[in-house]
Amino acid sequence: MRLLFLHMDFSEIQDQFLVDMVRKTLGCPEQCAHCGAYKDGFQVQDLRVTEAPLNELADILMRAVEGTGKRIKDWLASDITTDVNTEPLQTKGFPDFAELIYGMTNHTSRIIAISHGVRKNVRPMYDQLHAIVDLMQRDVIKNFILTMDFERLKGKIDEKTNEDSYIETLDRLKPALVLPETRITVSLQGTPRPEQPQFIGRVEEMYARIRRRLVEELHWDEETLQRIHVDRRESYTSIGRATTMVSILEAEDCDVIPDAMLVQKIRSKNTPKFRGRIDVFRRVLEGQYLRPGMTYGDTVDPKRWETIFEF
Ligand code: SF4
Repeated sequence: MRLLFLHMDFSEIQDQFLVDMVRKTLGCPEQCAHCGAYKDGFQVQDLRVTEAPLNELADILMRAVEGTGKRIKDWLASDITTDVNTEPLQTKGFPDFAELIYGMTNHTSRIIAISHGVRKNVRPMYDQLHAIVDLMQRDVIKNFILTMDFERLKGKIDEKTNEDSYIETLDRLKPALVLPETRITVSLQGTPRPEQPQFIGRVEEMYARIRRRLVEELHWDEETLQRIHVDRRESYTSIGRATTMVSILEAEDCDVIPDAMLVQKIRSKNTPKFRGRIDVFRRVLEGQYLRPGMTYGDTVDPKRWETIFEF
């Protein structure tokens, strides 16, 4: 198949191509003020979670690609993310999705959970986190990345509830650390400007308080605290609501995965020239040039994607 944007046949790029993203969910009710995935404020359709059927994804993964001797699943990267508009704790099918990817690739690919964590006293989110912890204990999911900021519900959650929610999340994640390779990352996110409510210094102060409270109130030991990796991201990418809702002027390009060390590790093993996304809703495989360090912005830019196969 001849590709227009990528200027070559798929057969020419197939050895330089990995699928690192699967869009199986649309919509997120978390209403983060800065979210890069949504452009126009808070549209009702963007707040409603819609999930594509799992058997459609399984069908796509099993499709054979003529002339290659391979199936679509053979191009899956070792670490797969959802699209940037998904909160795993608000997506009922997330655990089954993670199991499917793990099972269909004979345990060579895993889903990364990137989440803002539970909201205090929102019980369905606790149950969902429990299901993810179970998968982490069974090695189905290795990486949980907890995005830390003040942005959920349009930035209107009070500070105490926000902080308590992160403590609740980390304490519930603790049993997942049973396996030595499990990685839990706290991604501190904010802006460099102290006059803004999103100032990263405030987020850092909150995380320092959280660490203290985990020790004092929940008896975490130093060794367990050291297992939590911290990634510090100073400014948000100036796309989506970030531009209109929180006036982000300084923009950093960044990766979908907000853990620089993890990204480096994944890339050092296997860095293709092209990345792919399976869109289960549209039943397509899309491709784009991989621009390391810029995958978040490139993901939400439709001009950068080209359809490779329709199923
Ligand atoms: S940043 Fe994540 S949790 Fe927040 S609205 Fe966007 S997709 Fe949802």
